[in-house]
Amino acid sequence: MVKIRILGGGGEVGRSAFQVIDRGKSVLLDYGINFDEEDKPCFPEHVRPVDLSGLIISHAHLDHIGASPLLYITGRIPVYLTKPTLDLARLLIIDFLKISSAYVDYDISEFENMVSNAVFINYGVEYSVDDFTLLATSAGHILGSSMIYLETPSGHNILYTGDVNTINTWTLSAAELWPKKVDTLIIESTYGDRKHPSRHFVEKQLVNIIEETVDNNGVVLIPAFSIGRSQEVMSIVQTEIPHVEVYLDGMSCEITNIYLKYREFLRDPALFEKIVENTYFVRGWSDRRKVWRKPCVIIASAGMLKGGPSVYYLKKLSDDSRNSVVLVSYQAPNSPGFKLLSNGGVEEYGIINLKPRLYWLDLSSHAGKDGLLSIIKKYRSFLKNIVLIHGETESIVGFKKIIRENVDEDVKIHTPVNGDEIELFE
Ligand SMILES: [Zn+2]
Ligand SMILES: [Zn+2]
Repeated sequence: MVKIRILGGGGEVGRSAFQVIDRGKSVLLDYGINFDEEDKPCFPEHVRPVDLSGLIISHAHLDHIGASPLLYITGRIPVYLTKPTLDLARLLIIDFLKISSAYVDYDISEFENMVSNAVFINYGVEYSVDDFTLLATSAGHILGSSMIYLETPSGHNILYTGDVNTINTWTLSAAELWPKKVDTLIIESTYGDRKHPSRHFVEKQLVNIIEETVDNNGVVLIPAFSIGRSQEVMSIVQTEIPHVEVYLDGMSCEITNIYLKYREFLRDPALFEKIVENTYFVRGWSDRRKVWRKPCVIIASAGMLKGGPSVYYLKKLSDDSRNSVVLVSYQAPNSPGFKLLSNGGVEEYGIINLKPRLYWLDLSSHAGKDGLLSIIKKYRSFLKNIVLIHGETESIVGFKKIIRENVDEDVKIHTPVNGDEIELFE
């Protein structure tokens, strides 16, 4: 019998960690972290590296890879991931350790230990992980993100979506659904109960805001996640309104260079190169002090205004009503970005009443409910189990209801919490 242990990511968006066990062998799908209300990291349940044949990482976000170096304090198990995932993760983990090292039981040396056990995977190629077989395809979520098709030693076929996007974006193609029989689908549910507005509509809104602001001699500040969102926004602006100057600041610059390094993962590498050529990278403080003084677009990390150059720009731009601030990333409750949206100010930054116009646009890199449902429909003829993970309780409950209306009664829908063990019957 095949079992899935939910070590993290059950009823929460964060610390994804799923152990698949069959015939005395096991592999781990992701080993990430979450953060509590005080921003302290929380870890998934413990697993002994000696019990694992391998670790498979879906993508570079910390909620999928952030706890993995813990397995390399004593362990030497192979870790399967794409090359860009490793490069992106290195930057994120170094940054994470700078802020949170007091709460973390590993150091960069354990990360490097993990690197020395890396097996780089290419999309569409089968790999043996002990008695398991692994095949990854592009998940369309961020550079190098994978959906994982896993065949267990007894021949049970599992698809783990990781984080997935089912629409084409400027930088990446939509997730690639491999023609394969799937018995058990482990699917993310971040937006399981919600639809996103059409991407075309949101992009038009963004273009209108920028044109209006710049025509009015204002600056548009777009705080954005370094991975994915920054590159998307750059692409939209450069393609639709190329006459507007675009500045990129913070970790987004290094991340953009990694996007260029792995151009073969991009939807249109030549176009992206052109977009980057026309974007100004802010290099240090002498640049930073100048760029916001004339009409332009500034894309800066961090996306939730938790730190990084976006905070500097926000303070500088906050007194002039000709400017605009456009939030395009998810804003966690209690984050400065969330406070700005709900109170119109961020007290800890000395901003009581933000003068610029403030917008929030939905440019998510996760599929909405229709996209997620399209994955289920693709595989429903053989499906026996659907496991809903990586979602808040509300999304999961809503998503379960929607799925129930679309699959046969005998398909089991599991909504596990952390610590649960799911037994999969044939
Ligand atoms: Zn992600
Ligand atoms: Zn995630």
